[in-house]
Amino acid sequence: MRCRQGWPGNRVYGVCVRNKPDRETGGDGHKNNRSKRMTNETWGQVREELIKRVGKNNYTTWIEPLRLSHLKNGVASFEVPTTFFGDWVSRNFADHIRGELAVAGSPVERVEFTVGAVSDRAPAARPAARAAKTARARLDGVDEVTGAQLEQRFTFDNFVVGKPNELAHAAARRVAEGGPVTFNPLFLYGGVGLGKTHLMHAIAHELKFSRPDLHVLYLSAEQFMYRFVQALRDRQIMDFKELFRSVDVLMVDDVQFIAGKDSTQEEFFHTFNALVDQNKQIVISADRAPGEIKDLEERIRSRLQCGLVVDLHPTDYELRLGILQAKLEHYSNQYRGLTMAPGVLEFLAHRITTNVRVLEGALMRLFAFASLVGREINLDLVQECLSDILRSSEKRLTIEEIQRKVAEHYNVRLSDMIGPKRLRTIARPRQVAMYLSKQMTSRSLPEIGRRFGGRDHTTIMHGVRKIEELMAADGQLADDVQLLKRLLQS
Ligand code: ADP
Ligand code: MG
Repeated sequence: MRCRQGWPGNRVYGVCVRNKPDRETGGDGHKNNRSKRMTNETWGQVREELIKRVGKNNYTTWIEPLRLSHLKNGVASFEVPTTFFGDWVSRNFADHIRGELAVAGSPVERVEFTVGAVSDRAPAARPAARAAKTARARLDGVDEVTGAQLEQRFTFDNFVVGKPNELAHAAARRVAEGGPVTFNPLFLYGGVGLGKTHLMHAIAHELKFSRPDLHVLYLSAEQFMYRFVQALRDRQIMDFKELFRSVDVLMVDDVQFIAGKDSTQEEFFHTFNALVDQNKQIVISADRAPGEIKDLEERIRSRLQCGLVVDLHPTDYELRLGILQAKLEHYSNQYRGLTMAPGVLEFLAHRITTNVRVLEGALMRLFAFASLVGREINLDLVQECLSDILRSSEKRLTIEEIQRKVAEHYNVRLSDMIGPKRLRTIARPRQVAMYLSKQMTSRSLPEIGRRFGGRDHTTIMHGVRKIEELMAADGQLADDVQLLKRLLQS
């Protein structure tokens, strides 16, 4: 038994190939040869018919490569290049094959597939090897055209876990175990640069090692659309459908992108349903909750909400510091000899609150700059080198500003925002302000609670959830919140 790591170039799954001894060796009798010839003739006829049944493309990719090894005792047995290939043909074309065999006068009860020898020593198996190549080109097409390259450093090991992302991390870990599907889809959402893509790649990396038998496909929603449009143009929509329905784990990043793009949404919805029906895991990310994505069809929205919806909260100080410390280790190896004064990391973690990408960029710039000018990294250097980043993070939105804008918008008194009144006309705007504070600042729930008249963090959480729920059901409220967000961002 020889193990190959899948088809070369396909990064996601691997297949074990069992080498069969050459069957043509030794003295087969005449009888054997004759029955072989009969078998091949039958198969030749059947193949002709199958072209009509499954179409030229499917035929070339999946049927032509099959080698009929025997046809007896009610079983048609084929050699296939890989396990995946066999599974695919079995799932999609076994009935067609049986049907046509019956028409040709060789009915069978079962069609089975064994992984044959695909090596230079077995000339008989060459067509299969060629077919594997064809299929690979097609599958690679998905990987290549969609640019589904995985970033090497986006692993679980490199992901720093803190309060704001622990739930998302735990859910991603669960999916990465590759066990039975417990929630579908996993919907990860959060602002830019908070680690959504990192977590999705980490799932793919993990599965690639622990479950090489699974076909994991990661791509952005934009790439999904691109593929779809291309398939439409090339009239290969059936191939497109088949390819996407053949994956075991589908991950689509930044799904908000397809909002408003009707036919892509439609296709996505069908792909999504087909995979869920087959109990295949789906992981989706977006920059906001399903209910907040505008121009997303209602049925898609509600399906997206069926699984586990988890958000990546804005980072808090501890998480930012943790990430910086992890990165520091990395850079210290890269830039040996550079020193860093105490307090620099703490300063950065305190001041750069926008997102992790900016934080990482800042640290990288510091190291590059320091090594260029040959200086120690201290607070002076930070001021010099990062003045633009520091300036932009000074314009940080405060909870007070949010409360003021929301009060203005709903025509309630600012004092009522933090006061105890429970009247709905006041409580609802207050909850909107809570929601926006959670979304738009890096304050933690207890901190927000303190600024809402010393309310408990569970009250804030309840308020945030309430608004999330209401926005999904109430377009007017969703519009209000979007408008307020824009006003506050400007
Ligand atoms: P998103 O997809 O949510 O916009 P990314 O996953 O691209 O964000 O993350 C942006 C950058 O921040 C990446 O370089 C990623 O490695 C890094 N990052 C985000 N969160 C973490 C974390 N918890 N630990 C380590 N790095 C992180
Ligand atoms: Mg991303």
